[in-house]
Amino acid sequence: MKLTRTLAAALVLSSVMSVPAFAAKPVQTAIAGEALSNSAPAPASYNATGSTTIEGIVAPDANPVIALDAGHGGSDPGGVGNGLYEKNLTLDIANRTKSYITTNYPASVVMTRSSDVDVSLQSRCDIANNAGANFFVSMHINAFSDSTANGLETYYYPGSSNGLNLATDIYNKLKGSYSTLRGVKSADFYVLHYTNMPASLGETGFISNATDASKLNTTTFRQQLATQYAQGMHLYWWGN
Ligand SMILES: [Zn+2]
Repeated sequence: MKLTRTLAAALVLSSVMSVPAFAAKPVQTAIAGEALSNSAPAPASYNATGSTTIEGIVAPDANPVIALDAGHGGSDPGGVGNGLYEKNLTLDIANRTKSYITTNYPASVVMTRSSDVDVSLQSRCDIANNAGANFFVSMHINAFSDSTANGLETYYYPGSSNGLNLATDIYNKLKGSYSTLRGVKSADFYVLHYTNMPASLGETGFISNATDASKLNTTTFRQQLATQYAQGMHLYWWGN
């Protein structure tokens, strides 16, 4: 099921994009356990042709619509560790990022959630797709069985050149907050696959690591991450 859908999407997209790397098997990771593209049916709003068209952005709009996705929520806590829930951290960071963006940049923000509620993966994509967002950023906190795992990583959809640029620009701003830099990676995460625009997913530290968790438990650090997320988006869209 998963292989079939992934392969079908790859064939459709590669025929339009002619990006040889796109045909490669998506790189998976043993660590960031986010939902993959076989987790739910594709949303009706997903348009593979449209998403490849927007990959060809050459002259960005001056005033983009930015979709922010606070991972998990409601009955889905995401990662749990060191007395913290991922869903609460991601929501706080997303809300702070929205505030920073709308205060400092000529951009508008659409949120997939702005409170502690359940939002399906399909709905997260629908919100961004229906808003015609120019790019999409999903915020998560990592978790792993080995509590020594720590640090930063960002993701993009395999073969998406603009997704890679977005993930890299955000990573380059966020990396000032971490001593362990795990890299910019690709993965077939649902929200990266079925959003009709360049997309990135950030895993800012491990809730299962005591040092990362103690930092994430402070508003000062979460504000720092929010500022860096926003500055990374600014770098991606406006180039500085
Ligand atoms: Zn997550």
